[in-house]
Amino acid sequence: MTDALVLKDVRKSYGNREAVHGISLDVKEGEIFGLLGHNGAGKTTTLRMISTLLRITSGSISVYGHDVTTEPEKVREVISYLPEDAGAYKDLTGRAYLEFISKFYTTGEAQKEMVRRGIEIADLGDRIDSKVDTYSKGMMRRLLIARAIMPSPRLAIMDEVTSGLDVINAYEIREIIRTIARNGVTVIMSSHNMFEVEMLCDRVGMMDQGNLILLGTPDELKEKFGAKNLEEVFVKAVMKE
Ligand code: ATP
Repeated sequence: MTDALVLKDVRKSYGNREAVHGISLDVKEGEIFGLLGHNGAGKTTTLRMISTLLRITSGSISVYGHDVTTEPEKVREVISYLPEDAGAYKDLTGRAYLEFISKFYTTGEAQKEMVRRGIEIADLGDRIDSKVDTYSKGMMRRLLIARAIMPSPRLAIMDEVTSGLDVINAYEIREIIRTIARNGVTVIMSSHNMFEVEMLCDRVGMMDQGNLILLGTPDELKEKFGAKNLEEVFVKAVMKE
């Protein structure tokens, strides 16, 4: 299987404080990989380094064979990062927002097709023509998912993608993630929701205080700790430290 993502001994310091202490992992093409961990464990920092938004302090990250430090523009061509919100563009309608974003990727008929795909993924009905700042949290997240997926990335990077969403919105977003992975898109996501990660992810990495303390499939981890679920694995692993 092709390696979509390889991290080797990756470290990140903010000033003289190290937040990520040498993480190594690999994610295969089409896999859904989940990063779990407490607040402040280093998940966002790790995802932002993979996304080329943050410089790594040492070690290496390669995305489909491209190094994030020496070939960031090649990496950006094949990834998408799910941002927390639409930033300064909330005055646009959902449709105008997708049109605006699509212009960074392509032009002409291909651009129209990208926007059509985005509107379909967002599935917001006629609210696609409402201003983004009138959207609920769930609608906003769907728009951002559409923005992240419509350019057909090879690696989708999603930070806390379902946090704060109701059951139906979270369920539907997980279905979207499953569908894109079935179509060969690799996904790396962070979550605090152990249940979600157990249902959705092929493999899981557990972070604690900047270290990757566990790595494996949900079943492997449960077996290793004699645990009923990932939550129990996590508690046992952290208590053992
Ligand atoms: P959460 O689940 O709360 O989002 P996380 O696992 O994503 O947490 P990070 O946001 O990566 O954790 O933070 C890891 C550590 O790095 C924390 O101690 C945090 O305070 C620190 N940190 C993150 N960003 C910065 C920054 N810009 N400057 C200094 N320290 C930072």
